[in-house]
Amino acid sequence: MQKGKTIYSIVLMMGVIILGAGCKAKVEEKKVVAKDKRPNILFIMADDHTSQAWGVYGGILKDYVRNQNIQRLTNEGTLLENCLVSNSICTPSRATILTGQYSHINGVTTLGNGLAPAYNNIAKELQKGGYQTSIIGKWHLKQEPAGFDYYCVLPGQGEYWDPIMKTKDNWEDYYGGGKPYKGYSTDIITDMTTDWIDNRDTTKPFVAMCHFKATHEPYDYPERYKDLYRDIDIPVPASFYDNGPEVTGRSFNGQSIDELQKRYLDATANPELRKDFMNYPELPFSVEGLNANEARMKTYQKFVKDFMRCGAAIDDNIGRLLDYLDKSGLAENTIVVYTADQGYFLGEHGWFDKRLIFEESIHMPFVIRYPKEIKAGARNKDIVENVDFSALFADYAGIPYPKDMQGHSFRENLKGNTPSDWRKYGYYRYWEHSKDRPGHFGIRGERYKIAFFYGNGLKENKYSKAEQPTKFWDFYDLNEDPNELHNAYNDPKYKDIIKSMKVELLKQRKDLGDLDKDDPEINEIIAAHWND
Ligand code: CA
Repeated sequence: MQKGKTIYSIVLMMGVIILGAGCKAKVEEKKVVAKDKRPNILFIMADDHTSQAWGVYGGILKDYVRNQNIQRLTNEGTLLENCLVSNSICTPSRATILTGQYSHINGVTTLGNGLAPAYNNIAKELQKGGYQTSIIGKWHLKQEPAGFDYYCVLPGQGEYWDPIMKTKDNWEDYYGGGKPYKGYSTDIITDMTTDWIDNRDTTKPFVAMCHFKATHEPYDYPERYKDLYRDIDIPVPASFYDNGPEVTGRSFNGQSIDELQKRYLDATANPELRKDFMNYPELPFSVEGLNANEARMKTYQKFVKDFMRCGAAIDDNIGRLLDYLDKSGLAENTIVVYTADQGYFLGEHGWFDKRLIFEESIHMPFVIRYPKEIKAGARNKDIVENVDFSALFADYAGIPYPKDMQGHSFRENLKGNTPSDWRKYGYYRYWEHSKDRPGHFGIRGERYKIAFFYGNGLKENKYSKAEQPTKFWDFYDLNEDPNELHNAYNDPKYKDIIKSMKVELLKQRKDLGDLDKDDPEINEIIAAHWND
């Protein structure tokens, strides 16, 4: 009896222990849920949607652009005024954002490179750290996306209309695979992003990368904006009728808007070309009977209007994403970023496109909203680079930042507490050399900028020596010459600052490991022209 009673007691005790363990498990489960209340990240990135077309950075287009949702994000978050790209072209910028490394480290130096799935990236780290991850829209890194629970991406540049998009089920590297989706790409990419968020595993925080193809050339827009700007003239930048390096003293020509005019005319004459990236809206285009300046003006009007129409559709879709977060109760705990992979020339210096260390090209417009810790309506002037985004994500997610990633989290900067040792210069290097836009590297500080145009094609694309520059240095004082109209490299009043910036430039190259150890040719050019 006693024995039986003891056994009964033991069973009872075990029951209590088991029940207790059950309660403990529940408590732990609650803890896990609590831990996973880390913030979500909605990272919206456009292609080439440059700061001059955001309106919130001022400029001659500010009264023309449709930007009510960009304005809303700016009112509710913080706008970065000195966010810089380290290599101003699509594929390398995207690789740097993901890998947290400059181009010379991750090897994605030019448009033609891809990113191997085995290479580490911040999406993999976030996934490992308990985040659910997706990327939808433009990818441009050729090989299969890695680190994403879900991806649905455009092959190459992708199409504006009825785009083919590729998922895990129908992936092929480069341009193969995928299936078509009906509609306008910016609308489709937004729909897919909200669908994915809607159907996510709600026990985990998420990172959703929503990457628009717009506003990239050929700047095609949806029907709803076809009459926007129809009967008005858009103002031109002061440097629109640029007089070339002979007058400005710079080291290179740049890419004139006249080249875009030629593309419009070529695409008009040859419909076959429109199967490529030359599928411009509203052809035919003609400059018959116009002189050179009139023809350039007509090209500009079409270009900038088409560009802003694409931007208007992005703004709509940012609005849809913000509304979705509001309605689904996710707004408070979701960090929202809107940025572009680099800047773009919209007629400044008479140019279009990007690539150069000049302001319009290296500026990444960037706005971030996180009401829990980021001030509404604030502007931050610290020099942030695209390499830093990965560090910021890791910081918000509370995961370790890999030692071989090179970014610095600017979370404290966004709270208004800029660290005293924060960088004073952004490092820049453009690798994809051509005659008019030579390979170059440089640094850009708050006030001064210096760049060395070595003009060597390196291994990626060899050009003849005849295509190398004859001038090598550009220097600009952004306070005195914010539009970079005069290369002040030979102005004696800057002698000392130029000297110290050259020391800084070498230091940056050494610290970041960009020393071209395997390229004697470029080192010869540096040795021959460093003291020019
Ligand atoms: Ca781009």
